[in-house]
Amino acid sequence: MHLGRLLKTINCGMRYLGTGAKNEHRPEVLTVLVIKLTTRCNARCTICTLANGNKTYSHQDLPQEMAHKLISQLQKTNTLLVGFTGGEPLLYEPLPEIIRKLTTAHIHTHICTNAQLIDRSMARLLGQAGLTSASISLDHPHPDINDSIRAGTKHSRVVSAVSYMQQEAKNTRLSLGMTVTRHNLSAIEQMVGFANSIGINYLKLQPYHTNLEQHIKPSTQADSLCIRDKDLPVLLENLHLANSLSLSQGVMTNIPMLLTELPNSIYGIRRLRCLAGRMIAFMDQTGRLGACPGMLGDKKFTDNSLLDLWNDSVMEAASNCPQLPRCFDTTYGELSYLMSLVSRPRSRMLQQFWTRFKTWG
Ligand code: SF4
Repeated sequence: MHLGRLLKTINCGMRYLGTGAKNEHRPEVLTVLVIKLTTRCNARCTICTLANGNKTYSHQDLPQEMAHKLISQLQKTNTLLVGFTGGEPLLYEPLPEIIRKLTTAHIHTHICTNAQLIDRSMARLLGQAGLTSASISLDHPHPDINDSIRAGTKHSRVVSAVSYMQQEAKNTRLSLGMTVTRHNLSAIEQMVGFANSIGINYLKLQPYHTNLEQHIKPSTQADSLCIRDKDLPVLLENLHLANSLSLSQGVMTNIPMLLTELPNSIYGIRRLRCLAGRMIAFMDQTGRLGACPGMLGDKKFTDNSLLDLWNDSVMEAASNCPQLPRCFDTTYGELSYLMSLVSRPRSRMLQQFWTRFKTWG
C-alpha cells in the first residue's frame, strides 16, 4: 500500500472521527471510490433493483474515455482503493485493462461480482492485472435455494470461479458477500461453514435494506425481503452461532458489528457515523459523483475534475443524511470491509488471530 497516501488517510480519518465535527474538516483525501461501471447484468437476483423486469433502468455503461480519465486523476485525490460494481462489472470489457493501470499507479482495486463470467482465462486475466480483492455474491449454501434467490446465476459456477481464482489469481483476496433477507437468515451459520469448505476466509453479511437504490423497488417485493423486528430473535441466534463457528474456523466476518448495529437499525436508533462523502464516494455509470448511491449530485465528471467533484458541497449533504438511523449501507461498514480486505494478513494463523482481535475490540 502506498505509504504516503495511507498516512494522509489515517490523518483525515482521525481528524474527522476525533472531532465529532460535521462540516469544518473537509478531507482532502478520497480514500475509496466506488464506481458503478454498468447497469448491465447477466442475473436477475430477487434482492436487486434490476429484478423482475424493472423498467426504470436502461442499459448503460460508464463511457470508456471517462474511465481512463479517472485513472490519471485518482492520484490527486490520494485514493487508496477503487471498487467496481454494476450491474455485473465483468460485463464491462475494459475492466482488466483499467485494473492493470490502477495497479501500476499503486491503487488497490476491488470488484463485487456474481462470478458467473469467471472461467480460468478470466481468473488469469484478473490475477495478471493485479486485482487486489473480489467479493463474490452468494446467498445460500444450498445450490437450489441460492439459484432461486440469485436468479440467472449458478451456485456451481460460483464454486468453480472460486477455484479458478485460487489457482490463477493467487494474490487476489476473495470473500463471499451474502445479502441477508427474511428468507435466508437461518442459513448464516451454514454459510460460514460453506465459505471455509471452499477455502474462503472472509464472509460479509449485508442485511437487505430499502434505502439507496433499493427504494425504487415496489414495496410489495421489498416488504417480503426486509428483516422485521419479529425476525430479530431468530436472526440474532443465528448470528451468535455463526460467530462461534467463524471464530473456531478462522473465517472473518462482520458479525460482531451486526450483533449490535442490526437491532439498532431496525428500531431506527442513531448509531455509527456515516463516512460517505468523508472518506468514500460513489460514481454512477453516467459519471455523477455523490457520497453514496442515494446522494448523487448533478455535476458530472465529463465537465469537472474528480477533485472538484469531491470538494463540491453535495458531499456535505451526507453529514445530515436523514436515512442514517435506518441505513444499513453506511459506508462505515463498507469502508472497514474494503480496507480489511486489502490490509488483512495473508497467513491463516494471523487471520485467526486478527479475527479474534477484532472481536475483542
Ligand atoms: S447514511 Fe450514509 S450511506 Fe446511508 S443513505 Fe445516508 S449518506 Fe448514504
